[in-house]
Formats: sequence, C-alpha cells, structure tokens
Amino acid sequence: MTDPLALARARGDGPALTVGAPVIPDRRGLAAYLDRALDSGRLSNFGPLASRLEERLAERLDVPYVLSCASGTTALMIALRVFGVSGPTVVPSFTFAATAGALDWAGASARFCDVEPACLTLCPIASEAALADGARALVPVHTYGGACDVAALRDLAARYRKPLIYDAAHAFGARFQGKAVAAYGDAAAISLHATKPFHTVEGGALLVHDQGALEEARRLANFGLDPRRGGTARRPLGLNGKMSEIHAAFGLALLDEYDTLHERRRAVMARYRARLPACWFLPASARGSGSDAYVAIAVPDGVARDDVVESARREGIGLRAYFAPPLHEIDPDADQAAFPVSRGAADRVICLPIHPDFTTAQIDRVADVVLRVCDAPRAN
Ligand SMILES: *Cc1c(COP(=O)(O)O)cnc(C)c1O
Repeated sequence: MTDPLALARARGDGPALTVGAPVIPDRRGLAAYLDRALDSGRLSNFGPLASRLEERLAERLDVPYVLSCASGTTALMIALRVFGVSGPTVVPSFTFAATAGALDWAGASARFCDVEPACLTLCPIASEAALADGARALVPVHTYGGACDVAALRDLAARYRKPLIYDAAHAFGARFQGKAVAAYGDAAAISLHATKPFHTVEGGALLVHDQGALEEARRLANFGLDPRRGGTARRPLGLNGKMSEIHAAFGLALLDEYDTLHERRRAVMARYRARLPACWFLPASARGSGSDAYVAIAVPDGVARDDVVESARREGIGLRAYFAPPLHEIDPDADQAAFPVSRGAADRVICLPIHPDFTTAQIDRVADVVLRVCDAPRAN
C-alpha cells in the first residue's frame, strides 16, 4: 500500500500532516551558519557556535547558565549526576521512556507516581507519599509544555531537602508567571530533537542556576576531564554529551526564526480550538501559556481512541497516542491500580499534528476526520 504521507513529502508539498514533522530553517540562513562552522576549523568540543547558542538560550529561557548537549536524554543524565541523584526518584508514569531511561543510566531508578487529572503533570500528593517513603529526588515533566504545579513541587523539594530536576523536553517556548517554564527547579533538561518545536536535529540543553553546577556539567559532558587539572580525568567520570558545531549551526538558524514560527503555531492551535469542542482539550495551559507544540485532546467517552488514529491514518493523517502504554507498566511489580489517571489518559489522549507551515485547509482536514469519528457513536 502506498503511504500518502511519503508521497506528500516526495512532492515537496510542505510538511506531512503527521505529529512530529520537523521544522526546517530558511536554507540561506542555515548555509551562513554552516559556513561559519566549516570555516572555523572547529567542529566540536565547546566551539563558538555552541557557545553562542548557549548564550542565546540562557537569555530566552531566563536562566543564567545553559550547557548544550548531544540530546535531551544526555542533558537529563548529566543533571542527575551533577545533583548526586541516586536511588529511587519520583517520576510521573505518564511520560516518555527517556525520563526513566535517563535515571537508569545515571544509576538511579524510577519511582513512578500518578499525574493530576487536569494537566497530566506529576501529582504533588502522590509525590509526597513517595518522598515520605524514601524517594531521593523529584524529576517531574512539563507535559505538552504545560507547567507542572511548580509551587507545590518546590515546597516539597525544600521540605524534604531533595533535588528537583525537571524534564522540560516539551517546554521550549512555554511561560508561566513571568518566566520560562524551563527556568523552574534546580535544573531542567530540554530536548532539541527534530520532532520538538525548536531543535538542532539531535540535541539538548541543560539549564542550571549556578556556575559550579555548569562547570561540573561541562566536565561530565566531556568524559570527566577537568580543565582545572590540565584536562586530566577525575571521578566521577563522564560521557561524551557535547553538541557539535553543525548541530549548533542548525539551532542558531532556527532560533533566528523562532518567534515567527511560534506565532504561526499559535494560529494553528487557535484554528483547532475553533473547530473542536473546548472540553476535548487538556487545560495544559492552566498554568501559563504553553509551547503550542502539542495539540493534545482527550477523545470523548464511548469513542475508541484507536479508531480515531486508524481512520486518520487511512486519510494520510498521522495522529499519535501518547504516552501509551503508561510507563509504569514496564515494571510488572508496580501496583497497577495506583495509576488511574495515567491509565485513563493513555487510553484517551491523542496528539494532532501541528506545524507552522500548515494551512487552514490542512488543519480543517484533520479536524473533520476527528469530528467525524468522535461524533459517530453519539449519532446512534
Ligand atoms: C523527547 C523527549 C525526551 C528525550 O529527548 P531527546 O532529545 O530525544 O533525547 C525526554 N523526555 C520527554 C518527555 C520527551 O518528550
């Protein structure tokens, strides 16, 4: 069977109507940055373009220090090491595998907690129970760019004296109470992967608030080599988590256009909101303005989520159910009954495609398919 999405791409019809279609910067802008990278004779190891990207991200994300990384996952692993996180660590069950994967690779382990019904972000009450039971850190996720209950989580972290490190993979462009959502916590890791609204193809960024944390993160991202000891290794050793100059060039080019692109995504979001019932949308922006990178809706009762995804697929539209199944299910020993909200969300939430280049006609095509399938049972 031919894949209509592949055809659309081959014909150069703009972005495919599918979740995660990448945003491409203006080619001339990109070429200019790539020339700078190639002319500098320096392709990696904390080069000038990576440094420039870090400065620009720090300014935009309201934090004093940013380390560019090879991926969001490595940024999170490094953050966990910098803050000495080991042992059971609170993470939401409604998240991507990388959140818990980073914990495993950093020598900690996931202590899954359920999420709040409204925003699908980590539940502070479940988190407190886990902390009282010996959990040693908090790694909440700003799901779909909606801010977690940052005040409650900050109070918990302070009361139990535990590190609070956010997986802010979705949060680029989101703001809450006058600052970037990614600026909350002791540290935050952003993903700059091609499927994210702002990206460097592959990449990530670690956001920290003091220079000591930045220096340790940089040492750990460079095998554990210590510049204060002539670049020799010391424990704890690190990994190679650096961002290359080629990836930084891509990021700088896209950042030049970011505000316009976000404005256009906001318009796409507004069109979806005008076309679909308000009660289907998650109040992801209940705490501040979101990243406008995820159109997450919950299908109404009585509608099988997979029917919606399948009907759309037949029309060349790539919807995505996530996060399904909820991540706590990787642990067969976890009390499966303790995650009713994650379970329900995993069964009902779908993300619709969003891209700054979508036309109104394209958005309407997606909305029409979703409405048709979701209204069918009610018409009976
Ligand atoms: C994308 C994503 C990550 C991983 O980021 P990479 O840059 O792909 O390593 C981590 N957590 C969440 C919630 C994500 O969506």
